[in-house]
Amino acid sequence: MIINQSISPANGHIQVSHVFKNYAGHAALHDISLDIPAGSVTVIIGPSGSGKSTLLRMINHLERVDEGFIQIDDEFIGYRKKGDKLYELKERDILKQRKSVGYVFQNFNLFPHLNVLQNIIEAPLAHKKLSKDQAILKANQLLGLVGLRDKVEAWPKQLSGGQQQRVAIARALALDPKVILFDEPTSALDPELVGEVLNVIKNLAKLGKTMVIVTHEIAFAREVADHVVFMDQGRIVEQGTVQQVLEQPKEERTQNFLSRVL
Ligand code: ADP
Repeated sequence: MIINQSISPANGHIQVSHVFKNYAGHAALHDISLDIPAGSVTVIIGPSGSGKSTLLRMINHLERVDEGFIQIDDEFIGYRKKGDKLYELKERDILKQRKSVGYVFQNFNLFPHLNVLQNIIEAPLAHKKLSKDQAILKANQLLGLVGLRDKVEAWPKQLSGGQQQRVAIARALALDPKVILFDEPTSALDPELVGEVLNVIKNLAKLGKTMVIVTHEIAFAREVADHVVFMDQGRIVEQGTVQQVLEQPKEERTQNFLSRVL
């Protein structure tokens, strides 16, 4: 199947090195460093406003770092290195780089004027990555993967929130990204629709792509995460395995947070 083409353990290693970000003098991120192995699933948890989304957006250069840098497989995100200096990429090169990083937004962000198929084939065609026939074949495979093969001709407004998010996940996979970033993918959903989206994400974890997921769903984190990162006030307070961070957290801030959300 085409969707399995790019699976390679050497793809999608993310390194975040000493990243800082301020908004109007307020530290949204303070000295964040993270090493995310290729093919792993990292779940980022923490209270609202702790910097989780800001960090995720930086991995795609939707947000600029103030200091530090982020690399995926030795490529600098948003920058190129010349000598010992980093220079920001031109918009065209940023877009090119984003092809290898899929992003799933809280509010799905499907194009409302395009049907499901058109939403999924838009990027592969715009980037001239696949012929139209190949793109349609692949879109159908991806819709099978998210359990929506019968919705290929539906319009976004005809779908439930859970179905729209599953289409958005298929769309994020259409360019065969090395990395997929999920920004609270179920927080805009009615409670009864959360499970179907989490199940799709759990299945994706088996594809071997690097996934970074910001979520408040602790039970889901327990099932899917190789690595859990707890953030508070722009800092990483604690990180480690599910066992280390969710079952036996060392830090009081992690313990307090978990006791509030569990
Ligand atoms: P989380 O995802 O953990 O809820 P965010 O990354 O959204 O946290 O926000 C971290 C901090 O940065 C918050 O204090 C938030 O208000 C601030 N922030 C985020 N984005 C912006 C922005 N575009 N402009 C100003 N402040 C921002």
